[in-house]
Amino acid sequence: MNVEALAARVDVDIGALERLAHARDLWPRSTLRFAQDKLAESPAVVAWPKDEAELRFALDWAVVNQVPVVPWGAGSGVCGAAAGRKGALTLDLKRMNRVGAVDVATATVRVGPGVLGQHLEDELGRQGWATRHSPSSIACSTVGGWAASRSAGQFSSRYGKFEDMVVATRVVAPSRSFRTGLWATGEDLQPWVLGSEGALGIISELLVRVVPLPETRWLRGYRFPDIGTAWEAMRRLMQAELHPCVLRLYDAVDTRIGGRGKGVRKEGPGLLKTLTSTVDSGAGGGGGYLNMALALPRLLNGLAGWGGGECVLIAGWEGRKEVVDVLSHHGHALLLGARGDDLGKEPGEHWYEHRHDVSYKAAPLFAKGAFADTMEVAATWSRLPALDAAVRAALGKECFVMAHYSHAYREGCSIYFTFVGRGDEDRYDRAWTRALAAAASVGGTVAHHHGVGPHKMEAAARELAGIGPKFEALRRDLDPTGVLNPGRLFPPVDVPEPPAPKLGIDEDSLVATLDAQAPAADRDAVLARQGYSLRFPTSGALSRAVAAPHPAWESPVLGASVRVDGRRIVLLTVPRSSAGPDPRRAFPPEAYETLTVPLVRLSEAARVVHRLAADVRAARLLPEGPELRGPAASDLAALCEREAGLP
Ligand SMILES: Cc1cc2nc3c(=O)[nH]c(=O)nc-3n(C[C@H](O)[C@H](O)[C@H](O)COP(=O)(O)OP(=O)(O)OC[C@H]3O[C@@H](n4cnc5c(N)ncnc54)[C@H](O)[C@@H]3O)c2cc1C
Repeated sequence: MNVEALAARVDVDIGALERLAHARDLWPRSTLRFAQDKLAESPAVVAWPKDEAELRFALDWAVVNQVPVVPWGAGSGVCGAAAGRKGALTLDLKRMNRVGAVDVATATVRVGPGVLGQHLEDELGRQGWATRHSPSSIACSTVGGWAASRSAGQFSSRYGKFEDMVVATRVVAPSRSFRTGLWATGEDLQPWVLGSEGALGIISELLVRVVPLPETRWLRGYRFPDIGTAWEAMRRLMQAELHPCVLRLYDAVDTRIGGRGKGVRKEGPGLLKTLTSTVDSGAGGGGGYLNMALALPRLLNGLAGWGGGECVLIAGWEGRKEVVDVLSHHGHALLLGARGDDLGKEPGEHWYEHRHDVSYKAAPLFAKGAFADTMEVAATWSRLPALDAAVRAALGKECFVMAHYSHAYREGCSIYFTFVGRGDEDRYDRAWTRALAAAASVGGTVAHHHGVGPHKMEAAARELAGIGPKFEALRRDLDPTGVLNPGRLFPPVDVPEPPAPKLGIDEDSLVATLDAQAPAADRDAVLARQGYSLRFPTSGALSRAVAAPHPAWESPVLGASVRVDGRRIVLLTVPRSSAGPDPRRAFPPEAYETLTVPLVRLSEAARVVHRLAADVRAARLLPEGPELRGPAASDLAALCEREAGLP
């Protein structure tokens, strides 16, 4: 390996410290191994390209020398995706961190892949704008990493996940450089690149959608008698076109441990700190209620389920004051009507204040022979209870488990489990293997926003069963000698061809699985008879609408069945996923057999307006004008008409 040739153009470091720093990301399994003095494989060299020309030079150098390449954002991934490997070149992209001026006309900004999230928001804030992408790891993750692993932020219910915010990218791959999205020339590979974790190319620049800095914010807490009632309230709120920016529900255990149920939050030491201070003493050592978590998880999970299931939901709106006033007024009424007790502003304000308090308290826990981890799954509303029960039961065999529900969509929601266990890698792996299988068995995605890495590679390959060959073909084209993150995404898995999905309406999730090629008149008549209409109406076959424009924060296709090379591929119906690329809209119209798409209920209030007032979102864009729906339709229509100068 001729490192001097690389060093002639690009800053490199072959020192042990830098290589060790890039040996692992924040996958808790690696931390567990590190705590047991099992060192991860370090890359051979770390390089910091400053621009696209240097990136191209480094990649060409890797191809000539047949050196595996690992792109590195900030290494905050929790699945091992950026972890080093023996003999590899790690390309740390943090020096490609240019933030352009906001293009006000299109509300977009050009950004380098290596800019850290907080730096981006700071710079945009100076210009009066924001992405509002706000992962808890905002201070230690990059824009390129967000795109490569389909990250989700705390305000995803209003603005979408990061893949919804990416308008275009430039990508440097071994065989060629190409552009995606709005910048694409020829086939648009954006659905494949986002979520590909550096396996198809290195994202060298992004065009990102931005929004004006919110003028005002409205946050409140609500107590619900049990989790089922709270889920129902969240579902109704998301389907009422009220566009909250935050809906964050804590299960009964998290509510109790976090002291959230009383309205005024008591500051306690927190779960990790308590566990860390008691773990030394062992199960019977007097560490109290939480100490047992590590040795007797089943008992503790059972005990935690006692004493009532009260749980707390935080709901919030932000944006232009007039619009927030209307939406929060109707949202507040809806939540009270759905059996929520008003806890006032404090729980919401407290959460907002501390929303980026990333916990580094877990390290001592690992040092003492325990582990803490998180698992984020998602499903449609109708499958959510089964997903919650299945994963909780699977993790609960080995670990103490609690959960919150923080990324809600019209069609479903994600579940974020936090779990703590005592033991080694075997126990850790057992817990994860069971939990991933449990999620898949009830139709949940195995990853909502943490991505895949070696950690979930096999589970993700099963979830996206059938797209492996298409992905491999793309990969061979873009990276013929296979240097990019080799072997990381989609190992071959043997999965029988699935049956065609059942056609019909899922009323809870407000979606329908329909024949993609059926004539429009038949399809629309069947839907109308049952009281529904398409959210994205089309006068032709549904398959033609797949490529139609849609609001950036919406997902117009939730699931699909496609024929590729004579074989059926069924893509899971789920609001969002980060189990690799999302090819649900990436096939030619004739390939689709069925599509699962969002609906609207004909029974709900609807108003068509001439023009939308600033910050008001339409439910549908109809030929006669933007349509507002739900309980706030009338008030919002009045606002739009007032601003348009209509009587
Ligand atoms: C405490 C904590 C809190 C977290 N909270 C959240 C959260 O709220 N929401 C969330 O979504 N995630 C969260 N994460 C996970 C993590 O921050 C995300 O996965 C993030 O997207 C990773 O970004 P990164 O820049 O650190 O990427 P890395 O970890 O460096 O890389 C991730 C993957 O992307 C690839 N990659 C990186 N840059 C590029 C590029 N330019 N081109 C191609 N491939 C690239 C890498 O090779 C790797 O495969 C959290 C993690 C921690 C430790």
